[in-house]
Amino acid sequence: MRVIKTERVQAILPRIRAFMEEVVYPLEGEMGRGFQHLEPLLEENRQSVKSLGLWTPHLPIELGGLGLSLAEFAQVSEELGRSPLGHYLFNCQAPDIGNMEILHLHGTNQQREHFFRPLAEGDVRSCFAMTEPEHAGSNPLWMSTTAAKDGEEYVLNGHKWFASAADGASFAVVMAVTNADAESPYRRASMIIVPTDTPGYTQVRRIPIMGHSGQGYFSHSELLFENCRVPATNLLGKEGYGFALAQERLGPGRIHHCMRWIGICERAFELMCRRAAGRELSPGKPLATRQVVQMWIAESRAEIHASRLMVLDAAAKIDIEGQQAARVEISLIKFFVAGVLQNVIDRAIQVHGGLGVTDDTPLAHWYRHERAARIYDGPDEVHKSVVARRILREYGVNVPIY
Ligand SMILES: Cc1cc2nc3c(=O)[nH]c(=O)nc-3n(C[C@H](O)[C@H](O)[C@H](O)COP(=O)(O)OP(=O)(O)OC[C@H]3O[C@@H](n4cnc5c(N)ncnc54)[C@H](O)[C@@H]3O)c2cc1C
Repeated sequence: MRVIKTERVQAILPRIRAFMEEVVYPLEGEMGRGFQHLEPLLEENRQSVKSLGLWTPHLPIELGGLGLSLAEFAQVSEELGRSPLGHYLFNCQAPDIGNMEILHLHGTNQQREHFFRPLAEGDVRSCFAMTEPEHAGSNPLWMSTTAAKDGEEYVLNGHKWFASAADGASFAVVMAVTNADAESPYRRASMIIVPTDTPGYTQVRRIPIMGHSGQGYFSHSELLFENCRVPATNLLGKEGYGFALAQERLGPGRIHHCMRWIGICERAFELMCRRAAGRELSPGKPLATRQVVQMWIAESRAEIHASRLMVLDAAAKIDIEGQQAARVEISLIKFFVAGVLQNVIDRAIQVHGGLGVTDDTPLAHWYRHERAARIYDGPDEVHKSVVARRILREYGVNVPIY
């Protein structure tokens, strides 16, 4: 399979690449000074992205986006993934991108007006709260947060954590049990929109990750819902259909993540090669003359190439046949590319020596932030089980899910 670049992609990728090189990479040096310092700089440059006509590239044209297919957007996502700031500047960062998709597809007119529109315009941020500290997030059916109907309202009670970007978000999409008695465990929970200024909503803390507590968009929060009342009209989709909606966002969401990771790999790879070529062990003997470094370069090249082909193939399958047909491919890329990401970042850091663990390159940021790639959106082992279960079914073995 050759990577097919449609005319649309051929037209926009060089423009995005130029913006990344001229504006985005130079901004990375400001990241160490905290989100409060960074935010106004990001805002200014988000306006530039808008004026270039590249804003929210994932959305249909009539909603202000570029009207790309999933396979086309995947290639844009790789380009943006080359910097930790890329997706945010183009307003297609997780979890907002997933919330935009769900609100666009399943929101009522009122929800589209109140929640989707400001999100798509970049006026507000949002978060997604499903995982709970008390239950294994790998089994998303098991949760204690409830949303009880009381007249024209839902009353939420529960405890969530790891809600990415909740710090400063204006609303949360919360997964809560509304139909505890439903026969199918897949019909017990619903998605409910909770504005973060609702009484009873508390951001308990920003969870420190690998030594950094994070702020704003770069944070993960623990949340409490205590008799938190929202209008019943904040129900997203049908009652009891929370998992059905979650499933819809997971397929495209994994394509977005995997292509972002490939963008990271490509940038780390370039940094590795440049350092290997420029850093001399003795006069005229750069690191690149060592065979072990050559092995890292060759192995990384092969792994990145394989990853891209696998992800674009999965994206094309979703575009053509729908995500149900691509269940195996989606799980394959999730664990495979997350593993490649760890390998490539680690090798790039090793080639940089001490410089690799400083914040003078983006490598250390990625090393800290992207270890989680093997955990969020389903740990490796869960995805490997999905793949093996499907294959073994053809051999007459039925492996239970949980
Ligand atoms: C950086 C980050 C961002 C996140 N963002 C969000 C967010 O925005 N919103 C949200 O709701 N959640 C979010 N999460 C939570 C994430 O989805 C969960 O961490 C994930 O689902 C795993 O759940 P857990 O942490 O409870 O691990 P557990 O379920 O306790 O699993 C622990 C380990 O057990 C192993 N394991 C699990 N299942 C199996 C199995 N079937 N077979 C073999 N081994 C298994 C795996 O190695 C796994 O890592 C985020 C997490 C991180 C780290």
